[in-house]
Amino acid sequence: MDLHDLHDLRQWLPQAIGVAERWGGQFGPYRTHDAHRVEHEAFDEAFDRMAKRMDDNYPFFHPRYAGQMVKPPHPAAVVGYLTAMLFNPNNHAAEGGPATTAMEKEAVADLAAMFALPAHVGHLTTSGTMANLEALYVARQLHPERGIAYSAECHYTHERMCHVLGVQGHRIPVDDRGRIDLNALEEALSSGRIGTVVVTTGTTGLGAVDPVHEVLALARRYGARVHVDAAYGGFYAILGRSGLAGLDPRPWQAIAHCDSVVVDPHKHGLQPYGCGAVLFPDPRAGRHFAHDSPYTYFTDSDLHLGEISLECSRAGAAAAGLWLTLQLLPLTPDGFGRILHADRRAATTWATLLHQSPHLELYQQPDLDIVTYFPTPPHPALSCIDTASQQLLEAGMNAQPDPVYLSVLRADAEAFTRRHPHLKRDADSARIMRSVLIKPESEHYLPTLHARVEQLAAAHH
Ligand SMILES: *Cc1c(COP(=O)(O)O)cnc(C)c1O
Repeated sequence: MDLHDLHDLRQWLPQAIGVAERWGGQFGPYRTHDAHRVEHEAFDEAFDRMAKRMDDNYPFFHPRYAGQMVKPPHPAAVVGYLTAMLFNPNNHAAEGGPATTAMEKEAVADLAAMFALPAHVGHLTTSGTMANLEALYVARQLHPERGIAYSAECHYTHERMCHVLGVQGHRIPVDDRGRIDLNALEEALSSGRIGTVVVTTGTTGLGAVDPVHEVLALARRYGARVHVDAAYGGFYAILGRSGLAGLDPRPWQAIAHCDSVVVDPHKHGLQPYGCGAVLFPDPRAGRHFAHDSPYTYFTDSDLHLGEISLECSRAGAAAAGLWLTLQLLPLTPDGFGRILHADRRAATTWATLLHQSPHLELYQQPDLDIVTYFPTPPHPALSCIDTASQQLLEAGMNAQPDPVYLSVLRADAEAFTRRHPHLKRDADSARIMRSVLIKPESEHYLPTLHARVEQLAAAHH
């Protein structure tokens, strides 16, 4: 793990135990039971075995890992989570844990402010998938006779959740940057069969930002709602709304006028897994969860987390981890924004280096911090690129002592040759390289990372 983080953890972790000791001490003595007591020796032995098994992992914390959107949580998130976990509150209802319920409301209000929502009802979830399911559930409740449109590049769970909800899904093609195609969307909308359009601000594959502002205008013209899946890219609203880091402010500013938005604090938000969020700018959305509850109205100040959620039990600890993190790194350009700015600089710098490289080619200009590229093939054909990409992935992972961890993404032939018309289309698709530069450390490490990936690509010619 990051050495500074480990140092901080050594200092801060014992305080978690201190809090539990102090609080627990006020309830009087009682006789403990030995039914679940274990010997220290037995623990050490079992723990040793587990510790060894943890060697079988990828170094998500290290900038030589430039694969998926994973990084360890911030030490403050770990300490916040662990402290609350010792109490084990359940945020399905205020009675499950008043303190962490209040922290959840405050953290969710911070997320709502990040998107500049005028008002909101919302809560944390265990994942982006669950958060999107809730948003699509509300979409179905409001337009039971109409379907849901999403782009071909949207997260695969939207299609799955449409099946779960028994809603007709409409897959809309994308343009040559991987963004929802507005002409195709308008055609679908004009059929009158679309009740809600899903836009993605930062697709999971390419990191492409859909033109939320344009989709919103179109959707409104046809009486359709708009849901924003910002699970991966949402924290970029901090920079995007002000047009910082070279981002187009219009999609980010339009989010406030959409009908729901999802963001995953367990991606950019420095939280351990088990932390997504769904927000509705119109607090009346809460009523759709209220069928079997005695509560019939919901406002900003009157939030019953259990009654506005499809899930029941949820870790109050997740709310505490997020809350504590946001006290230290507020969702502002000078707070959290510094991390995103560094990620973004790493991505644009790499794009420039890839553009100049004789051994690698940029697949497309990154919108956020996902960089897509491929090894320059010996023959300009998709099949060659496919093989070379897979080889580069494996060569990087298996290289000792200097490994790099990348990921691959499958691009379809049509999309590929639209961007790179000189390539021969001798396969239906080709794998390309994909790197998510989700850690600010990537900014400093980039020259090393680029040189190493270039070296590996050159060696496999
Ligand atoms: C990661 C992701 C999801 C799914 O979120 P989970 O937290 O993995 O369930 C949905 N949409 C987008 C755009 C994502 O990047």
